[in-house]
Amino acid sequence: MIQPVAAFERIGEENAFAVLARATELAAQGRDILNLGIGQPDFKTPKHIVEAAVRALRDGHHGYTPANGLIQTREAVCRRTLSMTGAEVSPDNVMIMPGGKPTMYAAIRMLGEPGADILYPDPGFPIYRSMIEHVGARPVPVPMREENGFAFSAEETLSLITPQTRLLILNSPANPTGGVTPKAEIDKLVAGLVAHPHVAVLSDEIYDVMTYDGEAHTSLLTYPDIRDRLIVLNGWSKTWAMTGWRMGWSIWPDNLIGYVRKLAVNCWSCVNAPSQFAGIAAIDGPQGAVEDMLEAFDRRRKLVTGLLNEVPGVSCILPKGAFYAFPNISRTGWKAKPLASALLEKAGVALIGGPDFGILGEGYIRVSCANSDDNIEQAIGRMAEFLDGNAV
Ligand code: PLP
Repeated sequence: MIQPVAAFERIGEENAFAVLARATELAAQGRDILNLGIGQPDFKTPKHIVEAAVRALRDGHHGYTPANGLIQTREAVCRRTLSMTGAEVSPDNVMIMPGGKPTMYAAIRMLGEPGADILYPDPGFPIYRSMIEHVGARPVPVPMREENGFAFSAEETLSLITPQTRLLILNSPANPTGGVTPKAEIDKLVAGLVAHPHVAVLSDEIYDVMTYDGEAHTSLLTYPDIRDRLIVLNGWSKTWAMTGWRMGWSIWPDNLIGYVRKLAVNCWSCVNAPSQFAGIAAIDGPQGAVEDMLEAFDRRRKLVTGLLNEVPGVSCILPKGAFYAFPNISRTGWKAKPLASALLEKAGVALIGGPDFGILGEGYIRVSCANSDDNIEQAIGRMAEFLDGNAV
């Protein structure tokens, strides 16, 4: 039997997709499933964005685009970056990517190899570790601690840097915790990084608009000291509810942008043309739908947190960003993955066990706010009832 090379045995998974598949399967069998496992907004892509893609197809935009993306799309990204962060970015440093994930692959592939250490958040988005292991680098978890609001600690992060460290992956606002790293902590982190010029930074800012309570997002682009070794990942998936369009962008330093463009030429040629026109409409068009979505997520994160804190054995800090809550379930006596699985199979509630986001995720589950207030109330009610009847 033909086997792949060992690097492919080291590719992991994103279990949220498996939970979604199982939830869909149970629903198809007639079970009443409430899904709080979802990592995508429960909103439709705004109409004017869809129309822009349809118009592009009607206008004959069926062909290849430049591998790094249409100049108009890259310029739109620069406008959006300037208005969000105040940072000037040249379209020459922008890559239009087929979603957010390919930037993780590109950065980790470009900077990771056996002998290199890559620092990544734990609990964190599972693809970071998966890709680090795939390329043969050593994954070094940076703990995201509940007592620290699931934010990066500058001191702890800097203490993990060694001469072997090649890349530090940051994510704020964060999946799965909803943690937002405050500006003062990022200031300290960047000040410390100045002493480590061999460390590149990949800042995953895909949830940048999703901060609450006046806690503004701080982009790493606003620190000129590290711009020559900074890669910023962002995209359309979350902000404009466009997960299926596969539209992302990243911003690269001068010395790396040529390599990621070549990777695109070799792997996917370019992102499909109509989606790139939709991306321009998303950035330049009315933002009312985004504001409505943020208002719903803000309301629901409070609803979710309040309800979870009423469940015996469960405690939940109010997430400051993204659209997830990450309650501590350790006092229920349940381990996180068996609890998530039992809740799906027995109570019809889909959510994700913390260990699917890293070793330090034990004792937690991820609850997504991408469902209606009604469904959230029902789902957490079922969870409370299940825990009440199934003490361990
Ligand atoms: N980065 C983070 C932190 C995410 O949570 C996700 C998706 O869940 C992505 C990147 C990937 O986004 P995309 O679907 O655009 O590849």
